[in-house]
Amino acid sequence: MEKLLNNISNEVTPHVVIFPLPIQGPVNCMLKLAELILSLSRGTISVTFINSEFIQHLLDLHSPAPARLSRFGPSFGFETVSDGLGPYENPRGGQQLANITNYLGDQAQATVSRLRELLVYGSAGPRRKPVTCIIADGFFWFMPDVAKEIGVPLVYFETVSPCGLWTYLCLPKMLQAGDLPFPGDDLDALVTSVPGMETYLRRRDLASFCRDYDPNDQVIQLFLKEAQYYSSAQGHILNTFDDLEGELLSHMRPFSPNMYTVGPLHLNLMTRLEQKQSDNVDSPLSFSNNIWQEDRSCLTWLDAQPSKSVLFVSIGSLAFMTKDQLVEFWHGLVNSGMRFLWVRRPNSVIDIVDEDQLDISDEVLAGTKERALIVSWVPQEAVLKHRAIGGFLTHSGWNSTLESIVEGVPMICWPFFVDQQVNSRLVSEVWKMGLDMKDNCNRVVIETMVKDLMGARKEEFLKKVDCMAKLAAQAVGPGGSSYNQLNRLIDDIKFKRLAIPSNAH
Ligand code: UDP
Repeated sequence: MEKLLNNISNEVTPHVVIFPLPIQGPVNCMLKLAELILSLSRGTISVTFINSEFIQHLLDLHSPAPARLSRFGPSFGFETVSDGLGPYENPRGGQQLANITNYLGDQAQATVSRLRELLVYGSAGPRRKPVTCIIADGFFWFMPDVAKEIGVPLVYFETVSPCGLWTYLCLPKMLQAGDLPFPGDDLDALVTSVPGMETYLRRRDLASFCRDYDPNDQVIQLFLKEAQYYSSAQGHILNTFDDLEGELLSHMRPFSPNMYTVGPLHLNLMTRLEQKQSDNVDSPLSFSNNIWQEDRSCLTWLDAQPSKSVLFVSIGSLAFMTKDQLVEFWHGLVNSGMRFLWVRRPNSVIDIVDEDQLDISDEVLAGTKERALIVSWVPQEAVLKHRAIGGFLTHSGWNSTLESIVEGVPMICWPFFVDQQVNSRLVSEVWKMGLDMKDNCNRVVIETMVKDLMGARKEEFLKKVDCMAKLAAQAVGPGGSSYNQLNRLIDDIKFKRLAIPSNAH
């Protein structure tokens, strides 16, 4: 095979390829990172962004490429690859993540594949400029080999929570210590082989795949590979800040000596754009990276509600519930007597045939009409920022968790999978910003927790989350930890300071 070495010399202009896992959360985060790199380097770093054809199709529908290209400038370009899942009608939920990742891995290994070609040349700006750095999703276990072969540094971007990631990195340790598979059926027993979490991490707080641990399961294989390849990257971008997870980060440092903690990334971007605006640079602050159509009418509805009176309910882009869970949620929410704004994504209830046939009483329907709004997808950051929002019933996805913290909104957590089980434990037990509803969800529990969060214990949670919101703002402000780390990342890319993987010739 043709040796495709970049030989990163000073004459080669910096060009980074950004390659997210093709789902809403990582694509959104990495587009924000792309915007930050382009904006802060004033276009001196080129960026090629690789999307799956499916994601690009949705993004073009709801957040058109021409608008983004004119915002991001001539140093930015999109490229697409197949995700291997066939026609757009085929399911592309959380269950397909392993298939997508393995398919992309196979592509990367194939010498003549388009993916490999893109990783060498990208296409941003003047076409086919050699790539000098790859930023890829931490799930992409195949990337260190590719980066080594083409002789460019690899930086993993972990869009999951560092606390969740840390439990994945400790999977081999847990297996060795006999904590996995679980030696008994007490899910409340503490897991003691994850340093820094010994006092609060229970078996039930680990990713749900740990419960029926099967070493041959495709998903578990993926997480074990992540743990195996994690340290092979030349850097790691983490969406967190020191005041939130500093102690855990210190345990992670031996696995990733070159860590860039740049979070909360969306706040970092917003703050930098605000600064730019005050420098008289014309650029609207908010720009949607949503792959679904946003219903902005909810903001008008929120305008008519009293301050901190509305519970926002959303389970993100991948989680789903059963028909029975939907009925429990609905009753619990209405019975709490609180106002609520509920995002019900199409296809987020798996076994539903017709909503009219659900067992929902007239009383509950009347309560919904009186106090609630149900929509299919919202501009979530704007919703959480709205003064009417007083709480968030969330699936504890990491982006949602950070967005809630930044806006000082306490949470009720109903975690679904991967890092969400860990995140919800930290929200409730360590950061004390809300309540954890995992494994314990019915209409009575929902009603009680909503009343607690929005009523009886409101001040207690608000105090904690407000305090963390202030620390988040400091972290991304001038001189703050995330502000400095982002500058360092951009300088390292710009001045090609990242190490080249060792066996490049
Ligand atoms: N989101 C949104 N509108 C919605 C629901 C979610 O914009 O109606 C966004 C939300 O702001 C977040 C992302 O979708 O940035 C969800 O990411 P998260 O990590 O919380 O969960 P995931 O969808 O990856 O499970």
